Amino acid sequence: MEQRLQTGYDAGVSECDVLVIGAGHAGCEAAAAAARRGARVILLTMTADDPGTLSCNPAVGGIGKGHLVCEIEALGGLMGQVTDRARLQSRILNRSKGPAVHGPRAQVDRRRYRSEMAAELRAYPNLRLMVAEAKALHISEGRISGVHTSEGVVDAKTVVLTTGTFLGGLMHRGAERAPGGRSGAPASTLGDALRMLGLPVARLKTGTPPRLDGRTIDWARLEWQFGDRDDPCFATRDDQISPSLPCGITRTTTETHKVIRDNLHESSLYGGHIHAVGPRYCPSIEDKIVRFADRASHQIFLEPEGYDDFTIYPNGLSTSLPAEIQARFIATIPGLERCRILKPGYAIEYDYVDPRCLDLTLACQSITGLFLAGQINGTTGYEEAAAQGLIAGANAAAHALGMEPLRLGRDEAYIGVMVDDLTSQGVSEPYRMFTSRAEYRLRLRTDNAGERLSGRGIAAALLPAERSRAHHRAMAERAKALDQLHMLKATPHEVQQHDIAVRQDGIMRSAFEWLRFPMVGVVQACRIWQELRAIEPNLLQSLAVDAGYAAYLSRQEDDLASFRRDEALTLPRTLDYRTVPGLSSEMVERLIRSRPETLGAASRIPGITPAALIALLPFSKRAA
Ligand code: FAD
Repeated sequence: MEQRLQTGYDAGVSECDVLVIGAGHAGCEAAAAAARRGARVILLTMTADDPGTLSCNPAVGGIGKGHLVCEIEALGGLMGQVTDRARLQSRILNRSKGPAVHGPRAQVDRRRYRSEMAAELRAYPNLRLMVAEAKALHISEGRISGVHTSEGVVDAKTVVLTTGTFLGGLMHRGAERAPGGRSGAPASTLGDALRMLGLPVARLKTGTPPRLDGRTIDWARLEWQFGDRDDPCFATRDDQISPSLPCGITRTTTETHKVIRDNLHESSLYGGHIHAVGPRYCPSIEDKIVRFADRASHQIFLEPEGYDDFTIYPNGLSTSLPAEIQARFIATIPGLERCRILKPGYAIEYDYVDPRCLDLTLACQSITGLFLAGQINGTTGYEEAAAQGLIAGANAAAHALGMEPLRLGRDEAYIGVMVDDLTSQGVSEPYRMFTSRAEYRLRLRTDNAGERLSGRGIAAALLPAERSRAHHRAMAERAKALDQLHMLKATPHEVQQHDIAVRQDGIMRSAFEWLRFPMVGVVQACRIWQELRAIEPNLLQSLAVDAGYAAYLSRQEDDLASFRRDEALTLPRTLDYRTVPGLSSEMVERLIRSRPETLGAASRIPGITPAALIALLPFSKRAA
């Protein structure tokens, strides 16, 4: 069955430039990025409702993840825009730390997120949604030529695989097991087809909490958490935003812990039914009680799923205990004593592909024209999936249309850090983004994502015309603001003080702040005040952050220069590492598995020593 999202692209055709399998977060960004680059795209998925489905928590962004969303936005992607339009409340996490590691996060209306994502996709005349299951890949002479689907064969110059948790998906609750890609969706057997093609397929797991009926929660007993007053957003401010919805906060009790501890053997994980590794940083409540046995309680955020929805997502209560034990421990939590469970929580095991078989464009090294993105590459999270989708979709289009590939460096973007980590080091557990993964995090900030990346996006034809114009306008304003500051001889520190004063007490106090600098003087302070008033607050903030980090950033330039020297030295894809003198057999094995594109990437593979890098040096060449 085919469902056209848009007129203008013949629905009868069964061939395309880019076929994206899966319309989750990776798939939607991949399809849209390829379409923006001008490719004819088919987005193939199991059910018509898939685009924009949030399988787990109704929230986007957070620490590290918020950076990814801002970078997606800077490259013309969908996630930031859709989140802004669907948001119920938004906050900046990590506010007590420096601005480089602030994490914008929004809770969203689940249904609205889906409808806004579908609307975004409909806007592409060269993108078509097809509802069918991909059963096998057509490969001849090491090159992909199409996909065998439940509705027939689709010919494609390139294919992007973004199948999430669906390959060999097995859902667990206690001793119960059922095949499925997520609750209410069938699993896919495409993983077996990938194994037969020789791709390195293994298993991971994740889990989700029960969903609660908000009408049966005693809200009066709970603490509330509201969004930030300035309601931060990922894209441009939208005046249509509905009022912000708070969430409730409660805590587990010693009784909760007792019920869970007494029934640990009943959980899928501790009962020995699951063997795959799960996300360490997003543990189930059972895991928390075992790993942090000394803690008397754990915080639970009760997050609403929408304006017209009484479903509540209890963030922090992921579990694979049997439904009846879930009901028992939930009844021990203050405010939830009489709470009705709408859907019990569960864990899921699924196939993923070791991402070391991919290169920095997310192309599969052994099958030309095949790209992989999202949870299938061993990551977890909507933001990680979407960011990879954008890279894979842009590169699949480039491959099909003979355009320049898009590679982002570790020094340019969190997306570059993630892709490099995945393709050079692989994963030992579901990979999620953290600010600590980025060695150049002072320059990779959310406030300067547009400045860092939109130029790259425009050059790659990834930014729609309207957003390109907005970027050029923003850059011109920034240059003008810097000129003004230069003319007024205002130092970066003064800019920062001004910014702090504006944020603390408004514009009048900021005028007095200027007077604190004796070298400025009253007349000049008034002039500066007037000039700076005209600068857009976000821009001023970004200038202030730059100013605050100026000394560190200039020191980091030296590190960057040596990093870039290594990254400019490429290693041939065909290099036979067994012939490189001085490499141990373990190093050879690791290098063959990862096939690093550059000497820098080789240096980040665990176990590759400085001596090994010297041995590789004669085989590397300077990138053109
Ligand atoms: P998905 O969003 O899973 O989308 C996959 C798409 O592929 C679907 O549209 C599906 O229909 C389609 N598809 C699959 N196979 C085929 C096929 N053969 N043919 C056609 N279409 C196909 N993330 C967190 O960050 N924290 C969590 O705590 C967390 N818990 C989770 C719990 C559960 C139970 C689940 C299911 C997921 C959880 N996630 C969590 C993960 C989060 O949902 C994913 O990281 C994110 O959705 C991955 O995006 P994706 O685009 O890779 O895949």
